[in-house]
Amino acid sequence: MYPKEIEKYLLKVQKPGRYVGGELGEVIKDKHDVDVRFAFCFPDTYEIGMSHLGIKILYSLFNEKPYIWCERVFAPWIDMEAEMRAHDIPLYALESGDPLTDFDFIGFTLQYELSFTNILNMLSLGGIPVLSRDRHDLNHIVVAGGPCACNPEPITDFIDIFFLGDGEEVDLEVIELYRECKRDGKSRAEFLRLAAQIPGVYVPSLYDVSYNDDGTIKSVIPRDGAPEKVEKRVIMDMDSCYYPDNFVLPNIEIVHDRAVMEIFRGCIRGCRFCQAGFLYRPVREKSIDRINEECHALCRNTGYDEVSLSSLSSSDYTQVVPMLKKLNSWAKPEQVSLSLPSLRVDGFSDDILDEIKTVRKSGLTFAPEAGSQRLRDAINKNVFEDELINTCRVAFEGGYTTVKLYFMIGLPTETMDDVAAIADLGKKVLDTYYSVENRPKGKSPRVTLSASSFVPKPFTPFQWEPQDTMDTLREKQQHIKASIASKKISVSKVTYNYHDTDTSFLEAVFARGDRKLNKAMLLAHQRGMRFDSWSDCFSLQNWLDVFAECGIDPAFYANRRRDFDETLPWDHLDYGITKDFLKRECERAYASQTSPNCREGCMNCGMKKYGGGVCYEKR
Ligand code: SF4
Repeated sequence: MYPKEIEKYLLKVQKPGRYVGGELGEVIKDKHDVDVRFAFCFPDTYEIGMSHLGIKILYSLFNEKPYIWCERVFAPWIDMEAEMRAHDIPLYALESGDPLTDFDFIGFTLQYELSFTNILNMLSLGGIPVLSRDRHDLNHIVVAGGPCACNPEPITDFIDIFFLGDGEEVDLEVIELYRECKRDGKSRAEFLRLAAQIPGVYVPSLYDVSYNDDGTIKSVIPRDGAPEKVEKRVIMDMDSCYYPDNFVLPNIEIVHDRAVMEIFRGCIRGCRFCQAGFLYRPVREKSIDRINEECHALCRNTGYDEVSLSSLSSSDYTQVVPMLKKLNSWAKPEQVSLSLPSLRVDGFSDDILDEIKTVRKSGLTFAPEAGSQRLRDAINKNVFEDELINTCRVAFEGGYTTVKLYFMIGLPTETMDDVAAIADLGKKVLDTYYSVENRPKGKSPRVTLSASSFVPKPFTPFQWEPQDTMDTLREKQQHIKASIASKKISVSKVTYNYHDTDTSFLEAVFARGDRKLNKAMLLAHQRGMRFDSWSDCFSLQNWLDVFAECGIDPAFYANRRRDFDETLPWDHLDYGITKDFLKRECERAYASQTSPNCREGCMNCGMKKYGGGVCYEKR
């Protein structure tokens, strides 16, 4: 329930439904009956946060425990924030309406670097001291997990504990420890020291970082018994891993409003630019029976008529067609449609199409990532042009008219010819449509080419690579435009869009940043900067001013090539992938050599140590 005083302002802001809670499926407890209160904060708007699977899993998991009450908190949009600040209303949780200061844990999920300023803003709006060193008692423990926890160095001044890897077990272990420490009257410092002993827990205040004269890292030294390397947590048996049978149903339209079923974790592919593909290794699948059971319960309890079968590459599920058939045995009669996001070009077949096209025939989306075969080989995409063209043909024959293709520009080894090849591919897909005899009649095809800018990320073979400068990226964007124009294709049939280079540059700075960036983050927050991933709020110039004032050169982080032997800011964090493997893959990229996926052949990436998953499947 929202705080009473917010009522007066609800009709003054956009989308008041973001701020009222009371949704079907929310969990209400008596705060006097629980030992631990956890505010699960998503550092973006309600519509984005409510679409996120991780928050749904952990919200339900925590609330299954009678002694924990987990509530949801989202970043208020700037109109509501102005009202809250003007009228001294602290940031509150949607279930109880209580301010963040009433909570033991304030937990954030780190999905993208451009949400970091929102974390600081949410803490300050909630009345929590922004800097860890200003929080003294055993309460208000600020924790964070998610993919960006793999290099959390730019925000180590603000977060007490980072969780590395799968959160389902480690989060509960830390909450349990906190409960004991609270009962035994231990101090905050003692709790943090003990927490650092739990595998998967990184307490940054227990590590001292020193630098060389050239600004690179000299050493990272742990203190007070903290481990030298913090190893990520992995849940190997997905069938015994917790999955919710209900979701909180949103009050207003959100980005992804459907049931979501996680079918496996990890990815077999090893695309060299893709951080998620390496962070979540090894692949661990859920059984068909378990998927079927959980999916049916979820649809029945939520009433959703659409379920998305989620993973990093859903057509790589080993038994994808039998799974779809089993699900359709109840989904079809109950008019529930199945969707497979993240379909690969080479994973698309008539059989899959038959099972997923039951209700809606919307557009298809594929990600060839690069226009030329040479560059696709360098990034290990392992997708061939004839596969893409055949897939589009199958889709057009099956009644689809819209295809969206995602590309990246600025990839290592890219030339202007590779860039122009994006336009060629768009034209070939369009020509394929007109070559299909039984294409949909009376409809116009639409091919969308979408190009984002490559951001080198930690724990990938490209972690040492420079990002293209913004000028080069803009030149490449214009080159695609000119190449499409030279083909004289109607703009209504082939559309082209590209992402703004400014935000990609900032993302590149923070993705591989070190602790020196904390200073800039704090100053940016003090200047009111937030919602950096929203074009209506983002200003690169404001960031450049902040960096200049802090004596930081952002190009040092974004545009510099690192030596293989440089100590990287995240080297004391262990995600299972060995540096040797990443180096080998980087060298193979420069030789345009592909590597097999995990089911074709093992490249010894380091994940065998977890003792299961795809690494031990019979090949
Ligand atoms: S050890 Fe081999 S099979 Fe396992 S994730 Fe790495 S490359 Fe794949």
